[in-house]
Amino acid sequence: EAKALGRGQIRRFTPDLRRRNERRSAVLQAVQRALSESSFHIVLQPKFRLSRLGQPIGAEVLLRLRDTEIGQLSPAEFIPIAEAQGLIPAIDREVVRLVGELRARGFALPLSINLSALTLSGPGFGDLLEALPALARKGGLMVEVTETSFMGRLGAVRDTLHMLRRSGVGVAVDDFGIGHSSLAYLQSLPVQELKIDRSFVASLGHEPGPSHAIVRAILAMAEALGLTTVAEGVETPEQADWLMAHGCELAQGFLLGRPVDPQEFQRFYLSPQEENLPSDLGASR
Ligand code: C2E
Ligand code: MG
Ligand code: MG
Ligand code: MG
Repeated sequence: EAKALGRGQIRRFTPDLRRRNERRSAVLQAVQRALSESSFHIVLQPKFRLSRLGQPIGAEVLLRLRDTEIGQLSPAEFIPIAEAQGLIPAIDREVVRLVGELRARGFALPLSINLSALTLSGPGFGDLLEALPALARKGGLMVEVTETSFMGRLGAVRDTLHMLRRSGVGVAVDDFGIGHSSLAYLQSLPVQELKIDRSFVASLGHEPGPSHAIVRAILAMAEALGLTTVAEGVETPEQADWLMAHGCELAQGFLLGRPVDPQEFQRFYLSPQEENLPSDLGASR
């Protein structure tokens, strides 16, 4: 009987598992194709001072992959798959190259790029120790590293981040608040900015709940440590109001601006015609 049940389960689960494995290898092949054909592209999400929403103070660089066979892929799907295959350093290098192209075309706003701690602590980081400061000199550069990717690599990451910091590159902790149980690393890393994870921001603006207490605590700690705070994933005016009232300095999110390709960013946010710029929450996109 147990055997029959077991077989039944195998029959039921195998197609799912197989589909999942097929998807994984299709995504992996798409990543490998994009690396070899240089067909990744980047989009930019504007970053605003909450007290002055008209003009972005910078932008976050987000990676995009449109594959001819499987279509548009989200980094939320392909980054973990690439990571398991050791492809992250190659991808991060590709992003640095694409940002270099953007700078070469005259894009001068400060940019934040997402780098894995795997890349920061890996062999062959040497070339990036020249490329990243060069990008910083052409308009400002910050690297965002998630807390989770530090784990087990703090020593190596620390040295690299200090070198970057000394050469003018800023450091932000991404998805802050969900990754790590110990905050001790904040004492030893040259961090300037904490990006409050979207999951906390999502429940702000309704009745007070645990997220409100957590965000207040993050803001108080950041202030005491002299760190800039950025709220990610701001989607409603209520969230933006609450964050500003509680001392959060900067924000990103669909309310303020979705990630768009660099030409559109340039046209929409950096065009000389002031009437094209969002001037307040209501008028922004
Ligand atoms: P992240 O660095 O925390 O980036 C923010 C993600 O939240 C982006 O998703 C962005 O499109 C999305 N987002 C921004 N505002 C809102 C909002 O108001 N509401 C909602 N629901 N989402 C919002 P994306 O582009 O899919 O990236 C997902 C993650 O993939 C990033 O999270 C980052 O960890 C990773 N990633 C993206 N680009 C790169 C890259 O170039 N290199 C590396 N290593 N990782 C990357
Ligand atoms: Mg980020
Ligand atoms: Mg984030
Ligand atoms: Mg995130």
